[in-house]
Amino acid sequence: QPAIRAENLSKIYGSGESRVYALRGVSLSVPRGEMVVLLGPSGSGKSTLLNILGGLDSPTEGQVYFDHEELTAFDDRHLTWFRREYVGFVFQFYNLIPSLTARENVALVTEIAQDPMTPEQALELVGLAARMDHFPAQLSGGEQQRVAIARAIAKQPRVLMCDEPTGALDSKTGIVVLEAIARVNRELGTTTMVITHNAAIADMADRVLSMADGQIQNTEVNAQPCAPA
Ligand code: ADP
Ligand code: ADP
Repeated sequence: QPAIRAENLSKIYGSGESRVYALRGVSLSVPRGEMVVLLGPSGSGKSTLLNILGGLDSPTEGQVYFDHEELTAFDDRHLTWFRREYVGFVFQFYNLIPSLTARENVALVTEIAQDPMTPEQALELVGLAARMDHFPAQLSGGEQQRVAIARAIAKQPRVLMCDEPTGALDSKTGIVVLEAIARVNRELGTTTMVITHNAAIADMADRVLSMADGQIQNTEVNAQPCAPA
């Protein structure tokens, strides 16, 4: 039983003359616990696919199954609940609250989650044990993104969805952030999807999907992914 399964997803934005086909008949299956990377040129549909699989957006056609449940059959309230309980998101921008420390930013989530880890556990997992009481402005970009990852995983989500988590970072810092994501995936077993342009991640992933023009053009399975540093 895969963690996520999608059948024949299409997504059309707009109408009439300005119709954009963002996804054209995408089917995929993500095994539980895997780290899957989505590569592809800008505009190829990566964010659209990630947003639909994470319950942030709905497809025009097709179905998404999450464990035993059909996500695409949920109404908006159910979908909001599902995202809050089960999905951790990380985006290019960290969106930390500047007046709160790293620990306090993560605690905002753990205070309302059903079955959270502690903020300290989450921050340790991403290598920030020594920075918990720093404010965002006292942290580097890579460290701020690792706080955002800690915030996303602290509720122990079933999946972690990362949309260009290294987009605002230089490539060396980006690798440190990607290694933190890979470590979370290995240690917690959280099914993880990552959109990135950083080619270094392909070696850490279990599976690499290459998208072009709203379709998955190629799937590469990595039998022996590198352990994160
Ligand atoms: P990627 O993440 O690979 O850059 P996107 O999924 O963001 O690709 O976009 C796929 C296509 O859909 C692009 O042509 C983009 O301009 C279009 N698109 C994405 N979101 C919207 C939207 N909210 N409204 C209209 N068009 C959109
Ligand atoms: P990416 O960095 O993945 O390429 P974009 O910068 O294309 O993402 O898009 C960022 C957000 O803006 C996306 O979540 C998408 O929903 C929205 N978006 C993208 N293209 C359009 C568009 N043509 N019209 C409206 N919204 C868009």
